[in-house]
Amino acid sequence: ISPLLSILYIHRRMYREAAVKKEEYQVLEELGRGRFGTVFRCFHRTSNKFYAAKLIEKRRLLNEDRRCIEMEAKAMSFLSPHPNILQIMDAFEDADSCSIVLELCQPHTLLDRIAAQGPLTEPHAASLLKQLLEAVAHCHAQGLAHRDIKPENILFDEGNKLKLSDFGSAEWLGEGSSMSGVVGTPYYVAPEVIMGREYDEKVDVWSSGVILYAMLAGFPPFYGESAPEIFESVLRANLRFPSLIFSSVSAPAKDLLRKMISRDPSNRISAHQALRQSSFH
Ligand code: ATP
Ligand code: MG
Repeated sequence: ISPLLSILYIHRRMYREAAVKKEEYQVLEELGRGRFGTVFRCFHRTSNKFYAAKLIEKRRLLNEDRRCIEMEAKAMSFLSPHPNILQIMDAFEDADSCSIVLELCQPHTLLDRIAAQGPLTEPHAASLLKQLLEAVAHCHAQGLAHRDIKPENILFDEGNKLKLSDFGSAEWLGEGSSMSGVVGTPYYVAPEVIMGREYDEKVDVWSSGVILYAMLAGFPPFYGESAPEIFESVLRANLRFPSLIFSSVSAPAKDLLRKMISRDPSNRISAHQALRQSSFH
């Protein structure tokens, strides 16, 4: 048996013969495609419930990809259950593929919601921010940084509850040590990551602040024509509130944006502190 999903050995409840487990699921239509795998809606015969199954072909995976997949399963099962973190239900693998069974969400991410509706109302944005920060604060309290918080990775379940997903870039917070390495997505990535400095879990607070801005404005605070241009804009960290949009945004919301999108991570508030200020509307 390949050790790719070594988490299966740690969480023994998840481990049974892949062949037996596969039989329990009926694979239905495709829901989406990611870098490594394809996500299908599926029906679990024993529980009579629908889930999302991510199927990954092992053939073309690089070592780095394997790390992402393993981290995704490991982080999710470590953080579960939490009302705002996408729940992993099951995982199994055979010689050719591995499968991760997830709780089923709506097909539209937060990105689709912002693209379709433009700016969200302040109460709507506040409610989503609070749920996002609940998830982020939980990750940090458990010793994990997500490192790729962006609207594409924010899903909603059938009851419209926010679910943070995609833990493939997550990293453990070392005791007293910092992380390095460029991960994340240009619009949402924190300046200290671009500068190649060591950084900590505050990168997730920056990204969450950028998401709050994008929800209120309908566009991100730092942008450019290309990735290098976006990075330059992030490094300047010149946070502006164009009056056309922001004249109707409350002072406490702007105050929270300034505290979350603070260039210096040591002046940036923690996820836990931000959570306490998240009912600003
Ligand atoms: P990438 O790293 O490129 O984002 P990925 O390998 O992480 O890709 P996902 O983003 O997890 O893949 O999944 C691909 C798509 O499948 C998502 O954009 C979403 O549309 C859909 N999807 C993923 N998980 C679920 C889920 N639990 N319920 C419903 N749809 C889902
Ligand atoms: Mg994704």
